Amino acid sequence: MNLDFTPEDRAFRREVRDFLSAALPADLRRKMIERRHLGKADIVRWQQIMNARGWAVPAWPVAYGGQPWTPTQRYIFQEEMALAHAPEGSPFNVNMIGPVIAKFGTAAQKERFLPATANIDIWWCQGFSEPGAGSDLAAIKTGAVRDGDDYVLNGQKIWTTQAQHADWMFALVRTDNSGKKQQGITFLLLDMRTPGITIRPIPSIDGISDLNEVFFDDVRVPVENRIGEEGKGWDYAKHLLGHERSGIARIGLSKERLGQLRHLQADMTARGRLSAVEQARLARKLAEAEVELRALELTQLRVVAADAQGGGANSAASILKVKGTELRQRMTELALELAGPAGLAMPDHHDAADDHADPADGWIAAAAPFYFTMRKVSIFGGSNEIQKNIVAKTVLGL
Ligand SMILES: Cc1cc2nc3c(=O)[nH]c(=O)nc-3n(C[C@H](O)[C@H](O)[C@H](O)COP(=O)(O)OP(=O)(O)OC[C@H]3O[C@@H](n4cnc5c(N)ncnc54)[C@H](O)[C@@H]3O)c2cc1C
Repeated sequence: MNLDFTPEDRAFRREVRDFLSAALPADLRRKMIERRHLGKADIVRWQQIMNARGWAVPAWPVAYGGQPWTPTQRYIFQEEMALAHAPEGSPFNVNMIGPVIAKFGTAAQKERFLPATANIDIWWCQGFSEPGAGSDLAAIKTGAVRDGDDYVLNGQKIWTTQAQHADWMFALVRTDNSGKKQQGITFLLLDMRTPGITIRPIPSIDGISDLNEVFFDDVRVPVENRIGEEGKGWDYAKHLLGHERSGIARIGLSKERLGQLRHLQADMTARGRLSAVEQARLARKLAEAEVELRALELTQLRVVAADAQGGGANSAASILKVKGTELRQRMTELALELAGPAGLAMPDHHDAADDHADPADGWIAAAAPFYFTMRKVSIFGGSNEIQKNIVAKTVLGL
């Protein structure tokens, strides 16, 4: 298996790097470096810049705005995005609903939704989880009863990220209770302005209210907004959840973070803020993290190479998710250690960097909120415990 980059891959890397260094607005870059919260306007602005370049939705089919990139090029692109401190587009638009509509939508749905989704003229949210249906997603209970040309929805979703911003939701609903729980699930697109929808924010530990409960009381959804067949929603949901697995480890983000931690460590040392003992202890921990990151990168490249050779689904994806998220969380722990007692303060996450007297210490103010917010990465997208179950079954054969 050849893990080297070809001359074409290296030229592609330069092209991406040059574009990002010219196109990424300085204020967005700074917010990303300081781990500040990005608002809707930030994400829309950047996704529209990328869409104008044709790179907002590279993994979609070419006919709908995707790029004919190899798995290796997709990997390089994602790594360069992270190293340039570029924000990612809306995952709900780019990685989730776009590919589902492109594959299973009607011609009318494609025409109506895909260009607007790529350009983020429509902001989507994901209505999958419910109280009692998270890891066991097929246990959803929100009911949709057919009434003429509409479905009438009653029930509740939870943990709906950014529902407060959303124009549309893609949701799993139950249209039949008679068979196995995976059967009888239907995939609907619903306009968030429809009467009967109530959104209640759930404040999270990092001080942000991006999570929500969404309630449906007799919400009417036209049948034309159903994806595919009634009762086949589980198949479309599996396609959605399995999409873009090649980037799941987020190696680029961890590399960028490690580089930044090294830079901060040198800066803190130069300013006399770290004792010799602390310097040595942190240097060892950073080295340990780097060794693990390199090992993960090799695993990731093996998956990319297998993909490039048409390897298809690879059970290593669960290993990448577990190790990738553990490492991302480790980076936030190291940042807190580096910050020392000053990092214990929990400022307003939105303006964390501005709360600090010395601009060089902006990152310290963001260390605690970022540490807390990153707890989520081992929960969403299939919790790490669930991924370990998958590894036990499919990799270890237990
Ligand atoms: C920040 C954040 C954003 C989210 N955004 C969205 C969103 O936009 N839309 C959406 O639909 N959902 C969203 N979710 C929900 C997310 O998908 C669920 O939280 C996740 O699937 C876990 O489900 P749960 O919270 O119900 O926990 P549970 O499934 O109840 O699990 C609780 C604990 O038990 C463990 N566990 C469960 N089953 C097993 C098992 N069989 N073996 C071993 N351990 C097990 C889990 O790993 C976990 O530690 C979000 C979650 C978070 C944290």
